[in-house]
Amino acid sequence: MYSSEEERRAVRRAARMGLVYALFGALWITFSDQITVWLFSEPAVRTAVQTGKGWIFVGITALAFFLILRRRFLHDARVLAEREAERRELEELNQFREAVIDNASIWINVLDRGGSVTLWNKAAEQISGYSRDEALLGSTVWEWLYPDPEYRDRIAGAMRDLMRSGGDLDDFETRIRTRGGEDRTMLWSSRRLFGVGGTPMGIVAIGRDVTESRRTEEALRERERELATLLGNLPGMAYRCRNDAHWTMLYVSQGAREVTGYEPEQLLDNREVAFADLILPEDRQSADEAVQRALAAGRSFALEYRIRRRSGDEVWVWEQGCSVDGEDGARLEGIIMEIDERKQMERKLASLAIHDPLTGLYNRRELDQQFADEVERARRYERPLALLWLDVDEFKGINDRLGHLVGDDVLRALARLLQDNIRNVDYAARYGGEELAVVMPEMGVDEAREAAARLRALTGDRPLVVDGAGAVRVTVSVGVAVFPDHGGSADELLQAADEAMYAAKRLGRNRICVAGNAET
Ligand code: GH3
Ligand code: MG
Ligand code: MG
Repeated sequence: MYSSEEERRAVRRAARMGLVYALFGALWITFSDQITVWLFSEPAVRTAVQTGKGWIFVGITALAFFLILRRRFLHDARVLAEREAERRELEELNQFREAVIDNASIWINVLDRGGSVTLWNKAAEQISGYSRDEALLGSTVWEWLYPDPEYRDRIAGAMRDLMRSGGDLDDFETRIRTRGGEDRTMLWSSRRLFGVGGTPMGIVAIGRDVTESRRTEEALRERERELATLLGNLPGMAYRCRNDAHWTMLYVSQGAREVTGYEPEQLLDNREVAFADLILPEDRQSADEAVQRALAAGRSFALEYRIRRRSGDEVWVWEQGCSVDGEDGARLEGIIMEIDERKQMERKLASLAIHDPLTGLYNRRELDQQFADEVERARRYERPLALLWLDVDEFKGINDRLGHLVGDDVLRALARLLQDNIRNVDYAARYGGEELAVVMPEMGVDEAREAAARLRALTGDRPLVVDGAGAVRVTVSVGVAVFPDHGGSADELLQAADEAMYAAKRLGRNRICVAGNAET
């Protein structure tokens, strides 16, 4: 009936007091009546005394009751007041705690050992869309949040593991389905919760809604992927590198493979080779200087240089880039494209501009220019310079006999013969038609005469071997003019040589003639 020992003791005490009271009452009634009978014989007095005695008993017991109950009631009142104060304090504490929990912008929920929700804060309501009452209903809230049973089991498994073995479960990411049907990404930190006595009571889980940041990250990754695809499809190699001596590559697009023959990964961080080391040593310094000059002036740069590919081939590349600020120093960003074909074309065009297409000798314009420079140099250093003017004899006849194409071959063979028989410092040119010229620096009149005679003899003394036509009898007439003997300017020398050549023609062809005299 009475559950605790205190209660039983209290009842025993009450019974003892009742017994003492009954005993005291019985003794009082018995002895006071007896004493009254002894003392008062008068019945009227005896009755009055007995009534007075009754009143005294009532008075004394009332006083005793008053004293005992007053003590009791005061004690109860004090206990009640203390309890009330404690209750109020507890209530305030709870309110404070709930306010803190509810005002937190992070999801806080507490699960008991069975996985049922015992606390569900406002943020949890806002994020999930499920109210506290719905969450407290039982385990159904988990079915709503994780509709996929397999996924739900996996998460429940992780919670069970945490409950069993303890430890912290941090940065645990899950994807919940809200009441509105939206999927949100949550990042959880969960710990065990201990009751009095240190027994695990459940789990407290704190969750952050990271949907937006994950979305931003995903969008960023997507953009990076798009950019990589774009850069990968660009002709050439896009790069980002440090502004250091190795051009340490921090990013290299797929185009690196085509331009350098190396995989992008092999170039990154100088892993297999530093990009700067691919540049041919003779181009390296000028490339470096061009970049640094542009950076110092705050301009973007464009340069051309040669690199050695992985295969060992040399190729020309064109690079355009600019400097951007990085966390630890300047970065260079840009694109590098192979321009070997363009370079070859440029070289071809440059060569075409100065060479005669039929013979490969310098053309007239180049001869005019170079010869003028040569005369200038000869004048400055007071050195001699010879010009030999050659004209094929009776070339019309060769054309007529053998055809124009063989005539061309004759010119080509003659040009080759000339080139093979002059010094490195000399050069031959085709002035036009079948007129050729040879410029011979540092050559005085006598040597020039000898050289002219030797060249004439190459054809005059034996037939010329022509591709496709065999031996052809070809002779030339040669006019010789020497600086400063026969003229002080290029024009004067050209004219003097031409006149000497005509003199040779007049004298019977297949001979040489030095300007100023008519010799054979
Ligand atoms: P000579 O100089 O001995 O007086 O007689 P020639 O027959 O050589 O006379 P000339 O120098 O006046 O004639 C030059 C000829 O060369 C005219 C032209 O038909 C020919 N000729 C000029 N250019 C070319 C060429 O590119 N190819 C060929 N096959 N013939 C050319
Ligand atoms: Mg001619
Ligand atoms: Mg001729």
